Amino acid sequence: MRLTTPAFVLRRVRWSESSLILTLYSLDLGRASGMARGCLRPKGSFLGKVELFSEGEFCLSRREGRELDTVIEASILAHREGLREDPRAFAAAAVFSEWLLSVVSYGNEPSEPVYHLLDNVFSLLEDGAAPMPVLCGGIQRLLALSGHGMQVEACALCGKPDPSPPRWNPSAGGVVCPGCAPGGEPVSPGLLGFLAKSAGTPLEKVVKVRLWPGGYRQCLDLLREYTETHLEKRLPLKALRIMEDMLDAT
Ligand SMILES: [Zn+2]
Repeated sequence: MRLTTPAFVLRRVRWSESSLILTLYSLDLGRASGMARGCLRPKGSFLGKVELFSEGEFCLSRREGRELDTVIEASILAHREGLREDPRAFAAAAVFSEWLLSVVSYGNEPSEPVYHLLDNVFSLLEDGAAPMPVLCGGIQRLLALSGHGMQVEACALCGKPDPSPPRWNPSAGGVVCPGCAPGGEPVSPGLLGFLAKSAGTPLEKVVKVRLWPGGYRQCLDLLREYTETHLEKRLPLKALRIMEDMLDAT
């Protein structure tokens, strides 16, 4: 079966002198991966280079029961050079891609909102938005769209509004009240306030919601713990360590 679909390149692994294995997030297929034979040759059927984070129209040949498709041809719609030229934007785009590939498995239903979220996150980073708020807000949305939404306002167990002092229990689904708190850890009300605001604000405006120094890092840790609890696995997140080292150095 052959089909053509718009997709983002989220991972690219060199397979041979002239070939790559691409991991894509496609509008019509969700997560997909494809062998792009000859795509590094100067004169091939790939219009422009298939770079990391670029968006293209990919023609894929798919065989039933196989995870690896063949990329017949690709034409690039958006090169996203800005993401590869700015190290901080590059690192943040890599963190978001890694997170998405941990949450979304092969065979999951394609999701148009997830596709548009990727577009939104990459566009903001490319335009020079502060990486940490974009990442925190983007990951929060990714979790909600993948059926792992977090409760940050009312108690996740009894529904009591504004639990005080709030406790955090990822396996219960987020914030819990002291009455329902078994196993709950204290959590900063400021962080919950940020997440509540972020959830109801377009991503382009989340960058204007300020947190204290180090707050976004705490937020990312909380999102990571939550994601790992819900997926029941550790996130690899190599890119996250690189990004954190980069932020420490600046
Ligand atoms: Zn409760």
